[in-house]
Amino acid sequence: MERLQKVLAHAGVASRRHCEELIAQGKVQVNGQVVREQGIKVDPLKDKIVVNGQQVKLEQHVYLLLYKPTGVITSVTDPQGRRVVIDLLKGIQERVYPVGRLDYDTSGLLLLTNDGELANRLAHPSYEIDKVYRAWVKGIPSPEKVRKLATGIRLEDGMTSPGQSKLLKAESSSQRALVELTIHEGRNRQVRRMCEAIGHPVLTLERIRLGFLTLDGLKPGEFRKLTHEEVESLK
Ligand code: URA
Repeated sequence: MERLQKVLAHAGVASRRHCEELIAQGKVQVNGQVVREQGIKVDPLKDKIVVNGQQVKLEQHVYLLLYKPTGVITSVTDPQGRRVVIDLLKGIQERVYPVGRLDYDTSGLLLLTNDGELANRLAHPSYEIDKVYRAWVKGIPSPEKVRKLATGIRLEDGMTSPGQSKLLKAESSSQRALVELTIHEGRNRQVRRMCEAIGHPVLTLERIRLGFLTLDGLKPGEFRKLTHEEVESLK
């Protein structure tokens, strides 16, 4: 159940404030009854909502978790005709948008939704959602350098905020290491730039977790809908 003015605003009737005015003016009906009271809760999927005599079409919100493979652009369209994440969403009719982005060469967990409000909230650094990445990097970083990834790195657009970092594997034969990094920001190419800054450029990068959401059960290129409980926990 959601507040009527929020449902109307989501459906694109008008801004939330203007929707409140429409309600106060008696121009909104729910299941045949004029509603003038602000804040009543409605079920966007069951209740019949009419504004100025016209039934409001409510698009159902969808929330998708995609295991983005490498070699795909995090975008809805690409002017150069390259493969975009939307091309992977077979059978989905709604117009969904990616929440944040993963680079062309990055694989991993990407959320897509048509719920603009939740998308904005999740993308905002103040929401502090954990974004967990695993990166194979060139060379074997010292414990000191691994620690620095967590405490903060000076990048050209400022210090990174504190997170967590771990060295998971060090392969001296191939001179590479697997590092796990948890960050809360989403700056452009942030993990690649952080690793570069400590002198260990990224070879491959994957996002393995977003908050409590993981890639369990999915292969690269596959997606699933979030459950109702998962969506509620994100809000
Ligand atoms: N950091 C990066 O450098 N690239 C991504 O795709 C995501 C985070």
